[in-house]
Amino acid sequence: MEWCAVWRALLKNITCPSCKKTIELQGIVNPIHAGFNNTAVLYCDKCTSTLIIQVYDKKYNILVNKLPWLLDQKEKFLIENNLKPCSCGGSYKFDEPPRCPYCRNSMQSLLQDKIHYFILGNRIDSDKMDIWKT
Ligand SMILES: [Zn+2]
Ligand SMILES: [Zn+2]
Repeated sequence: MEWCAVWRALLKNITCPSCKKTIELQGIVNPIHAGFNNTAVLYCDKCTSTLIIQVYDKKYNILVNKLPWLLDQKEKFLIENNLKPCSCGGSYKFDEPPRCPYCRNSMQSLLQDKIHYFILGNRIDSDKMDIWKT
């Protein structure tokens, strides 16, 4: 996984647009940066955990065999339904925005684009952990 060094240096803390609390940023992921165009990023719908799936992941390829941004809604559901729940009990979703840990409002507006992703809390990597149900 490639980190966007510039953003990382600029943004150590972000301010929630809704409650104005300061949130310490763990990192920013740019899956398309430097040819790293092979990563799916999903946020938990209950906590600040972020799931990162490498597309060379075996199970991912069995399920969809497609690059993440080419997935249709049905294929996204298929992936989501095969993922283990987050340790908090929540679920990882493709269309879930990054949420403020204090007020739970979306902080998507801070990202300005759909290329970058915030890492606000735990980072779960598919190549380091078993993320699938079976
Ligand atoms: Zn907030
Ligand atoms: Zn969670």
